[in-house]
Amino acid sequence: MRIEGGRLVGEQVEHLSSPNHSGMFDAGGPDTLILHYTACGSAASAISILSDPLRKVSAHLVVGRDGKITQLLPFDTIGWHAGRSSWETRSELNQFSLGIEIDNAGRLEQRQGRLYTWFEREIDRADAVAGVHRHEDVSTWWHSYPPGQLAVVEDLCRLLRSSYPIQYILGHEEVSPQRKVDPGPAFPLDELRQRLLSEVERPIAQSVPVAAERRDSTS
Ligand SMILES: [Zn+2]
Repeated sequence: MRIEGGRLVGEQVEHLSSPNHSGMFDAGGPDTLILHYTACGSAASAISILSDPLRKVSAHLVVGRDGKITQLLPFDTIGWHAGRSSWETRSELNQFSLGIEIDNAGRLEQRQGRLYTWFEREIDRADAVAGVHRHEDVSTWWHSYPPGQLAVVEDLCRLLRSSYPIQYILGHEEVSPQRKVDPGPAFPLDELRQRLLSEVERPIAQSVPVAAERRDSTS
């Protein structure tokens, strides 16, 4: 996967276009990644909402449970994913951030030993995890993120960080804590953030010859 002219290029990448945006970022471009879950029944239904001019929401990327990626806005364009939001000294974070929507139904409701999404789809226990949300103190059930989907999200964050001056990787729940709980405790946000932001900033391709050289010297 790579980025060319604000577009993601790769085998599992599809491009669509959302009308919901505010034009180009100011000079310097985005410095924040904001992660979301879709709370939808499928990536396709999320994409249709995020492209609907009447809904007035969008995101740069949607990552399916199968790891397929759909880009709805080029990375030089301001999307409408964060809404009312703030972090440290800044507010209205759309103007500083790229939005990644991850296909996941979100919080589940337990009734008579069974788990249901907010749109009344039963979820198998194998696809659910119990967890305490960072803003709450009681454990509840959440739709799990498949490992392959998490790996794609991490790859995307790493790639975007190598192409843009990304300083913050945040959950929607952190920038809009009064009204949002995504991506929720099923998403390993703290671990991902620690891994990515502690990595030395360098183009991914440069790590290959270093590894090859090390292998040569020890064989
Ligand atoms: Zn969100």
